[in-house]
Amino acid sequence: MNNVEKPTTAQLQAWDKQYVWHPFTQMQDWLADDQIVIVAGEGSWLIDSDGNRYLDGVASMWTNVHGHSHPALNKALADQAARLEHSTLLGLAGEQSILLAKRLVEIAPDGLSKVFYSDNGSTAVEVGLKMAYQYHCHTGEPQRSRFLRLQHAYHGDTIGSMSVGGISIYHDTFKPLLFSTIEAPAPYCYRCPMGKHDPASCGMACLDALEQLMVEHQEQLAGMMMEPLLQGAGGMLAHPAGYLKGVRQLCDRYGVLLITDEVATGFGRTGKMFAVEHEGVTPDIMAISKGLCAGYLPLAATLATEEIYQAFLGNYAELKTFFHGHTFTGNPLACAVALRSLELFEETGLMESVQQRSKQLTALLQQLEGHPHVGNLRQCGLAAGIELVQDKATKAAYPWEEKRGIRVCQEARRHGVFSRPLGNTVVVFPPLAITEDELVFLMEGLKKAINAVTD
Ligand code: PLP
Repeated sequence: MNNVEKPTTAQLQAWDKQYVWHPFTQMQDWLADDQIVIVAGEGSWLIDSDGNRYLDGVASMWTNVHGHSHPALNKALADQAARLEHSTLLGLAGEQSILLAKRLVEIAPDGLSKVFYSDNGSTAVEVGLKMAYQYHCHTGEPQRSRFLRLQHAYHGDTIGSMSVGGISIYHDTFKPLLFSTIEAPAPYCYRCPMGKHDPASCGMACLDALEQLMVEHQEQLAGMMMEPLLQGAGGMLAHPAGYLKGVRQLCDRYGVLLITDEVATGFGRTGKMFAVEHEGVTPDIMAISKGLCAGYLPLAATLATEEIYQAFLGNYAELKTFFHGHTFTGNPLACAVALRSLELFEETGLMESVQQRSKQLTALLQQLEGHPHVGNLRQCGLAAGIELVQDKATKAAYPWEEKRGIRVCQEARRHGVFSRPLGNTVVVFPPLAITEDELVFLMEGLKKAINAVTD
């Protein structure tokens, strides 16, 4: 590029419209506006082609941990690139994937002892589903082929991960392509599907309903897929304390494998390294991605217990091999960055900082409690959802076509904040290393935008 003139913002915007099809985006709307073109990042900030700075309120789709373009991670990436960019795990072992797997098992909940790599959250979930089913085949229960999942679940966009999804607007179109799963009520207390609303007094009626489903389908159940503690894309639905533990107990009672999807919650987001730690739960299978590589490169893994792994051992001809694997499985560049990221957690005392920022976020959210159009505030660590409603008394939602959430985020840009909503829920999901002042800036921007769009 040295002798070539840098494209102008207008050129980049025009080429984006001409060539790029954006995900989860109505392109007709996209084409109608001038879009921000990001060219750089620094700490919690994204910088556009005109030099404007935006606080990255969604950690670049919930991935960023230590901040953008972090010197230590840049160095780890460059050092590894100078040695080896990629070699396959099909038939070869790799230094970086070995070291990372060892480290992941050290920090994972006790009992998870094997790491199967893939390259994004959806595939980590797919691996979990296939692994669970094949495990039952090998242990003499091939009829266990069905999965339980929660209402409003989101586990990715591939056919298998969508099959365990429960968000109508995303998944209904594809229903004819999906395999059928069993939907359990979500512990979404504000709009409780059991009509209860108060976890302190309801005795967790949603767990009773889950148990009934387990009894009804017991013979056929392979596993229960769920996000622990917080259903992210479902609307930042923070689960009541004890729900996860209750699910673990039911899974044990009915021989159902518990598959936790920590793609969004893993790597410190909830205030512990993994969300399941809050309730002392070890899943049978755990999917991780996003924060694993600190937002640098696509990397994912599915962790399994020794019991699951052992069921796949056998003579070659028995066909117990786990027939799954992606081209970029265990990519050395990504593994090297992930390893360095895990060191940085310790070097920078990031977990303590996340806990402080989470308390600060609680206080900042409280300022919105009396807002006439804030129906429900939900928080889990350094993640939160602000559910906007048309009528607070009746909880009547704004019609989705009014795009209130999208409009709040558009308005927030005028205050230097980038966010991305989930329907009428405004999302707070900043880089974990966000500073005290930056968090204030983020919440101020969102508050002004909420006021402007709900007035
Ligand atoms: N699982 C959860 C909980 C997620 O939040 C996501 C993405 O947002 C996924 C899975 C899918 O991950 P990916 O987009 O990397 O395929």
